[in-house]
Amino acid sequence: MMECTGTIFDLRRFCIHDGPGIRTTVFFQGCPLDCWWCHNPEGRSTSAETFPLGRAGDIATTSNQLSQSTFGRMVTVSEIIHEVMRDEPFYDQSRGGVTFSGGEPMAQIEFLDDLLDACTGVGLHCTIDTCGYTSFVDFERIRDRVDLFLFDLKLIDPAAHKYYTGVSNEIILANLAALAKLGCNIDVRLPLIPDITDTMENLEAVAAFLRPLCSIRRISLLPYNKLGEDKVERLHLLRRRLGLEPQSPEMLERLAAIFRDYGYEVRIGG
Ligand code: SF4
Repeated sequence: MMECTGTIFDLRRFCIHDGPGIRTTVFFQGCPLDCWWCHNPEGRSTSAETFPLGRAGDIATTSNQLSQSTFGRMVTVSEIIHEVMRDEPFYDQSRGGVTFSGGEPMAQIEFLDDLLDACTGVGLHCTIDTCGYTSFVDFERIRDRVDLFLFDLKLIDPAAHKYYTGVSNEIILANLAALAKLGCNIDVRLPLIPDITDTMENLEAVAAFLRPLCSIRRISLLPYNKLGEDKVERLHLLRRRLGLEPQSPEMLERLAAIFRDYGYEVRIGG
């Protein structure tokens, strides 16, 4: 039988923010959302893409000698497992494992399904970092082999969610509620985008939405970082430049207190 293949745009070893312990994170190509602040814009397209490199105003830019870089490569399940298992001793010592991120790993469900089979076959702890925008049937298909879901929540107001991400949040919220009801192990992650997702109004609405989902007790607040904006410039992408500044430590503590007051275990950072 032909081995299942998928497209990834990166594989990073020794990650410590994508789940417990030391992990290898595999970044799947393709995402159904189009967040204004996307920090991995090179991974949004469903297929490999070539970008010119260099900042506007660079000598190379002005003389039309831009170098290029292609993101996205097709890989087999066994290639990924081979790469991931190189760090097996570190996973054992740190209780780490593998994280499938992106882009959106659920967008390549056949590949993900086969990868999870292979990972559980060798005893790896598996984490899925998801935006939640997919059919619940897909979550049901894989959930028995997922040790931890990192579930990203952005905005509760439906109109604002559609405006800033390009899609409705109806499916996302329903999927999160359904996974929680099934007792899956879930960490909710909130990317804090200044004046967009980090408002008191949005965070209070997130807390109100999560309160009935009793199995969810952990929340990570992801401070804004300018990585996405930097990439927009380097890759010459025709995307919005937000020009935002990261939250101060004092502000992050104030935002964390909203959730701590409701009894959540809150972590600042991934
Ligand atoms: S969900 Fe994540 S990968 Fe997808 S567009 Fe938004 S920030 Fe980018």
